[in-house]
Amino acid sequence: MIAPKEILRDGKVAHYSVGAIIQKDGKYFLIDRAIPPLGFAGIAGHVDAAESVQEALVREVEEESGFKVTLHKLLFEEFLAWNWCSKGVEGHRWYLFECGVEGEVKQNYRETKSVGWYSKEQIQKLTLEPVWEYWFKKLAILL
Ligand SMILES: [Zn+2]
Repeated sequence: MIAPKEILRDGKVAHYSVGAIIQKDGKYFLIDRAIPPLGFAGIAGHVDAAESVQEALVREVEEESGFKVTLHKLLFEEFLAWNWCSKGVEGHRWYLFECGVEGEVKQNYRETKSVGWYSKEQIQKLTLEPVWEYWFKKLAILL
């Protein structure tokens, strides 16, 4: 599954993004984003030109958490026209995966203010990045 970095839709540039739902013992791994859009979020990032969606997933998880992806399952593929990014592009084609991971967490201090594991109850009280509020509602993690 090779994805280009950008697609044209109605004459506008859009990006491809991957996101990772990482769950262990009933808790979800979240980062507090240091780069806008701010808020608590799952690990996510752009698919670079010349890399597949799966390669982008593995790379982003390692960059933002230090974890190695051991298995992944695609949950949703969806174009979100309202989702913007710090590169000024509105409209992202998302590939949201559920991931199994191994290894030790290594915080990325450039991209994250903090990282941690949060229960469903704790997630209800967090200020989430809008796109993650959307995914967590869709997955009935956020009620
Ligand atoms: Zn983007």
